[in-house]
Parts: sequence; structure tokens; C-alpha cells
Amino acid sequence: MAPGEGLSMKELAPGVQLWRPESDLLHDPNVVPQEPGCRQVLVGLPLGECGGVAMANKVIVELGSRSPQRLYGNHPPTHGADSTADFVGMGARFGIAPADISPGQPYVISAHGAAPSVAREAKASGLQVFDVTCPLVYRTHEAIKRVAEVAGGRVAYISFGKPDHPELVGAAGVAAEHEIPFDVIGNREHVDALATSAQPGETIVVVGQTTNNSDQAGELAEYLAAQAAQRGITVGRAASRDVCHTVRDRQESTRLIVARRVGSLVVVGSVNSKNTESLAKVGAEEAQRSGRPLDIYLVNSWGQLPILGGDVGVVSGASTRAQNVHGVTTRLAPRHGVTEVGVDTDKGITFLPVDAKTRALISGEEPTSLRQG
Ligand code: SF4
Repeated sequence: MAPGEGLSMKELAPGVQLWRPESDLLHDPNVVPQEPGCRQVLVGLPLGECGGVAMANKVIVELGSRSPQRLYGNHPPTHGADSTADFVGMGARFGIAPADISPGQPYVISAHGAAPSVAREAKASGLQVFDVTCPLVYRTHEAIKRVAEVAGGRVAYISFGKPDHPELVGAAGVAAEHEIPFDVIGNREHVDALATSAQPGETIVVVGQTTNNSDQAGELAEYLAAQAAQRGITVGRAASRDVCHTVRDRQESTRLIVARRVGSLVVVGSVNSKNTESLAKVGAEEAQRSGRPLDIYLVNSWGQLPILGGDVGVVSGASTRAQNVHGVTTRLAPRHGVTEVGVDTDKGITFLPVDAKTRALISGEEPTSLRQG
């Protein structure tokens, strides 16, 4: 397996049914409750858009209202399918090379972060750069930069997703900028290869993707520490702490819900969202551990669900709108109501952009200029 590819759902949880809808964007605000309703719904907290996603969307909306120019970005600001569709509907365009955009237009770096060269190239093309990198992703970039100060330092970056995930690509770009050796590890074979190639006297600093499965990341970090110790190689930092609070807490709610013997688990979110996919994997792992059957449905809105009976768990990704979750719980029409499971650690948390110009845009201060990079 190539570094960063991770395990597919089939390999991770053979025998667990995963159902994917044809279209990710099917959405209807006029929810029709199913008949008959299911028995009970257990809904996982937190739900709705996390602080980082809300901040990114707020910047885009604010820019859209202030700037008559077309908005561009290196990538959709988040993986939220509905918000991305809305922004594209507003005229925003994502993934276009800065050199192909007329100078003066606003250009947004997404919440996943990007290599420093992306903003540099955009500024060199005369674009106005606004950076909505989530502060928690930015924290991992800062951790990578500090490795440059460690003699013999190198980064082991834990990621179980695709090698082209924008968060991983951005982190690799930060390491490249500072000429720091950067290895992606997603399984024990990757760790064995790294431990073999590293030299005694080197220090491996472990960093991880914010949307990883927290248990899986913790186990891999421990395995790396054990392998490196046998070769006299120092390992620093626990990557499991890079899994952000809202992702970790949504995974924990998923475990609690599956432990309560639901027959179906509905994961509400975009099919291209890593943290949504992680919730499905956590549910599958938990079901496998308990030996009980579990049907998992990955949907973006209520209209993609089949009729479900019995007790149903509903959990949601960090870029999923709360209204989509409410649409699903309404559709399921539980005869014994909806019970919340977990703790809403997102409540009351708001994020500001780490970039001063972007922060000024949404904090009420007048930006120095919307026309300068
Ligand atoms: S999921 Fe976590 S890291 Fe990603 S945008 Fe939300 S708060 Fe930030």
C-alpha cells in the first residue's frame, strides 16, 4: 500500500454494509416523515458546522457581500457539499491556477490550509489573498515549522486518507518550504519502513491530520514509538492530540451510540469529507468489536435515506449543516423520540482567522484594504 492510502472500508470492516447514495447534493427542505416511523433515534453531539467551518463560511459570505468581484479559492473552503454548492451558485470558482485569474480578485485559502507557495503564487499574480485555514490545522503547520530547529529532525505525518487530501498536501508543503524530511504514515508497514530508514540520533516528530480516527492515530503513534526506541531514535509529540476536539467528540458519540445496540447508523455529511468518512469507519469498527450487525448509511440529506426501522443512530460530520441532521431525524419520525448522546463541545466556540487581514474582515474592524494582497 502506498503511503497515505490507508485502509478501504471493505478492508477495515468486511461484512459491514455501507450504502452510498447516487447523488451527494440531493436536498429538499420540505421533509416528509417516513411511515411507519422508526422506534427511536439516538443523535450524536456535537452536530452542525464546527467552529473552523463556520469561520471559513463566514469569511466567504462577508467577502461576497463586500466585493463586487468574482471570488476564487485554491479549493472549496470546506468539504460541506451544500455550502460549496451555494458559493458556486454565488459565482465563486475553486481550484483555478492563480496565473489564470485576472489580477485584483479575492482568492481564498481553504480551511484545510495550503502550502505557503499557494499564497505566494496568488499574491505574485496580483490577487488579494484571504486565508481561512482553521486555527487547529494551522497549529499542525506551526508544529512542523518548529522541527526545523531540531537537529536531525524529521516529520512523521499520520494520515489514513487519500494522498491528495488538501490538509495533507498543505502540511507536506510546509515541510518542503523548510526542507524538513516528511514521511506519511498510515499503517504499520509505513512505520516499519520509516523506523528502518531513520538513523540513530535523528528525532522523529509525529504530527497528524485533524480528521483522523483518534484511536487509530494513537495506536499508530505508540507503535512508532516502540519501533523507534529499539533503534535508539527519539520520537516527539503525540499525534493523537492533533485530532481536533469536535472530530474526536463526534467519534466518541458514534462509539457510544453503536454500543447502545442500534441496528442502523446514519452518518450525515459529504461523501468527500474525511471526518465524515472517519465516523462511518468508527461505527463499523465498533460494530465489528461487538459482533453485532450494523447497517451504515452515508447520506447528505434526508431524501437519500431508505425507510429504517428499530433504533437508529444519527451522527454528522463537522462540515454538515445542522438543518441536514434535523431533516434526517424528522424523516425517521421516531415513535419514542430523539435522545442526544455525547457532549456538545462546539457550543459557544467561535474561531477567528489566524491571518490578520482575514480576521479584520469578519471581526468588525475595517480591513486595511480589500485591494492589497
Ligand atoms: S473539523 Fe476541526 S480542524 Fe477541521 S475545520 Fe473543524 S475545527 Fe477545524
